[in-house]
Amino acid sequence: MEIILDGKKLAAELEIRLKQDIDHLSIIAGRRPGLAVIRVGEDPASGVYVSNKEKACKRVGIDSSIFHLKEDSSFDDILGTVASLNNDLNVDGILLQLPLPNGFDETRLLKAIDPEKDVDGLHTINLGRLIKGEAGPRSCTPAGIMALLRYNNIDLEGKRVVVIGRSILVGKPMALMLQAANATVTVAHSKTLNLAELTNQADLLVVAAGKPNLIGCEHVSPGCIVVDVGIHRIQTSTNLIESKFKLCGDVRAKEVASKVRAMTPVPGGVGPMTVAMLLVNTVNRWQFHCGLSSTVSDLLP
Ligand code: NAP
Repeated sequence: MEIILDGKKLAAELEIRLKQDIDHLSIIAGRRPGLAVIRVGEDPASGVYVSNKEKACKRVGIDSSIFHLKEDSSFDDILGTVASLNNDLNVDGILLQLPLPNGFDETRLLKAIDPEKDVDGLHTINLGRLIKGEAGPRSCTPAGIMALLRYNNIDLEGKRVVVIGRSILVGKPMALMLQAANATVTVAHSKTLNLAELTNQADLLVVAAGKPNLIGCEHVSPGCIVVDVGIHRIQTSTNLIESKFKLCGDVRAKEVASKVRAMTPVPGGVGPMTVAMLLVNTVNRWQFHCGLSSTVSDLLP
C-alpha cells in the first residue's frame, strides 16, 4: 500500500485552522460559535460519541452544550427542546445524536431543526440542496471523506467508484458528492447481486455496509483505493475477569492492504473526519449567522 488515508492527522490540522479562525473572528462577531447536541436515552456508544464531540468543540473554541433527555421523554419534550434551540441566537448548530431510542419519529424530529442550524446536513432541505448542487450544510461523514480524498490528491474525475450502502446518513449523500466531483458512481446494497464482480471494477471503493469484515481480497482489484466507513467493536476473548475487544471496519484490512494503493485505517480514518466536519459545519453556520464571509467553504463539497 502506497498511501494511508490518515483522517486523524488531517482532523488535527483542521482543528488548528478552525481554532485560528474562531480566535480571530469571534472578536468581530462578538461571540464564539455555539453547538447544541441533543441526546436521548442511555445508549453507551452515543454517550462516547457525544463526549468526543464535546471535547473537540472545546479544543477549537466552540461553545457546546449537551441536552441529555431521558429515554421516557415524550416526543413533544424533544420537539420543544429543538424549538427553543432554533430560537436561541447563540446556537449556530443543532445536532440530534442518532440513533434515537425505539419509537421516536427520527424523520419528523430532523425536519423540526432549523435547516440553517442543521450541522449534520440531514434535513430534507439540505439533502435537496446537495442534490441540486446548492450551498448548505453537508452530511459530516461523506463530507469528511471528500476532504480526506482531496487532501491526499486523489483525483476523482472520470474514475469508477462503487459505494456500498445507500443510507441517508452515509451512502446516498456520499454517492451524490462523488458524482458532483465528476466520478462515475454505482451504489450497491444488500440486494446487489455479484458484489465482488461489481467492486472489482472500482478505482475507488467506499464501504458503508455496517457489516464487520465484509470486504476482502476477492472484492478489490490491484491499485484500488478503499475507504472503510464501518466501525465495529468486536470481542476477541473473554474470561471470568475481563473481556477483550478490538475495533474493526467493514473491510478485512490486513488482507487487502498489500493489494490496494491507498486505504483508510480503522480507527483513525473516517471517524476523526466525521467529527472534524461537524466542527467545520458549525463554524460555517456561525459565520453565516454573524454575517461573516465563510473561511471554510473550500472544505464543503
Ligand atoms: P445502515 O443505515 O445500516 O446502512 C447500511 C447499508 O449497507 C444499507 O444500505 C444496506 O443495504 C447496505 N448493506 C448491508 N449489508 C450489505 C451487504 N452484505 N452487501 C451490500 N450492501 C449491504 O448504516 P449507516 O448508517 O450507513 O452506517 C454504515 C456503517 O458506517 C456502520 O458500521 C456505522 O457504524 C458506520 N459509520 C461510521 C461513521 C464514522 O464516523 N466512522 C459514521 C457513520 C456511520 P439495504 O439498504 O438494502 O438494507
